[in-house]
Amino acid sequence: MFTDQVAVVTGASRGIGRSIALALAGQGAKLVVSARNLEALNELVAQIKNDGGEAVAVAADVSVSADADKLIDTAVESFGRVDILVNNAGITRDGLLVRMKDEDWDAVLATNLKGAFACTRAAAKVMNKQRYGRIINISSVVGEMGNPGQANYCASKAGLIGLTKSNALELARRNVTVNAITPGFISTDMTDELSDKVRTELTAKIPLGRLGESEDVTEAVLFLASGKSGYITGQALGVNGGMYM
Ligand code: NAD
Repeated sequence: MFTDQVAVVTGASRGIGRSIALALAGQGAKLVVSARNLEALNELVAQIKNDGGEAVAVAADVSVSADADKLIDTAVESFGRVDILVNNAGITRDGLLVRMKDEDWDAVLATNLKGAFACTRAAAKVMNKQRYGRIINISSVVGEMGNPGQANYCASKAGLIGLTKSNALELARRNVTVNAITPGFISTDMTDELSDKVRTELTAKIPLGRLGESEDVTEAVLFLASGKSGYITGQALGVNGGMYM
């Protein structure tokens, strides 16, 4: 489905990002995978190559604009273009509002929101020239609903939806679409920290009766990254088992 296309995925060393990178590579895309640390990425690149694909790894902290620029420059130097950008890198630094430290607010906003802005700004210059691009921002259901103890995270994920819509309006004339996915609670390292009690309470609130898997998010990404979604832009697609409608 993605033969001769080039995809950049941030936060690809594990979890949802890794699943997205493997799925895009499995469907023929050339991958530029990124995270802060090269070790886990090198293993991912080896796996993609072993399966007959092409991939390069870039160590980049998305909250640093120079790193975001380097990421997109490497994609162009390696493969000549950027068709798909998945802004997936994200962190949590949870705490109740009255106890939340400035540094926890700043770190989450810097990675989750500024990171997507910086990568999109760099990629948009390339996509505009190509007159083609698919940008997918991994937001969260809590950006739509709110969540106690996550003022920083919810604000960053709600901000991503605003960024998605604004960028969609600016880039539409160049045939570049920009959409967000708002996953519910997905089983990854991020949610492994939840206690069994919290997990049981959460599951009770999910109409489909289970936490999501990385693959549930990945299938939505594959659609929004494909040519089949060409008339969809500026949307936030919920992948949440029905917990928010
Ligand atoms: P994870 O913690 O397993 O993986 C996060 C990835 O982001 C890792 O590869 C990490 O190295 C990378 N990363 C973190 N900070 C970075 C930075 N500054 N620069 C570059 N890379 C950085 O998380 P996950 O559960 O796979 O989540 C992936 C995305 O999905 C995140 O944006 C997260 O907010 C979002 N999300 C997750 C869930 C969930 O329930 N797991 C739900 C909704 C949204």
